[in-house]
Parts: sequence; C-alpha cells; structure tokens
Amino acid sequence: MKVTVNRNHCQGHTMCNMAASEVFKLDEDGNAYVESSEVPAELHAKAQAGAAACPERAIVIEEQTRP
Ligand code: SF4
Repeated sequence: MKVTVNRNHCQGHTMCNMAASEVFKLDEDGNAYVESSEVPAELHAKAQAGAAACPERAIVIEEQTRP
C-alpha cells in the first residue's frame, strides 16, 4: 500500500492524525505528511481510517498488487 498526502488539498484539520498518528504526522502548521509512503501491512487499516477521516479527501491510497 502506498499512501500520499496531497498537500495542496490538506487544510490542516488533523483528523487523519487523530485517526492514525502512526501513519500521518503533522508539521508545525498542522498539515499532514507521511514519513514513508510505503505503509506496512499492519498499518493498512489505520491508514484507510485516516484517509476516510479526511474531510478534504487529501489522502491518496494506492493498493499495490503483488506479482
Ligand atoms: S485530515 Fe486531511 S486536511 Fe486534515 S490534516 Fe489530514 S490530510 Fe490534511
């Protein structure tokens, strides 16, 4: 799973961080970022919860299929 935050859409609501602080970090302005876009399997559900919590739909999740 690859997770990215569209910083152009992020409005700093911090909902993603509240839902999944392990995945979504906040900068000094309260805008979200991910330290690593490659999210390990044990955090997939958290990442999806964080993305669903974002009112701006600023979080993009790409499911990767394994060969
Ligand atoms: S919930 Fe959305 S708008 Fe708010 S900080 Fe997270 S990514 Fe940004």
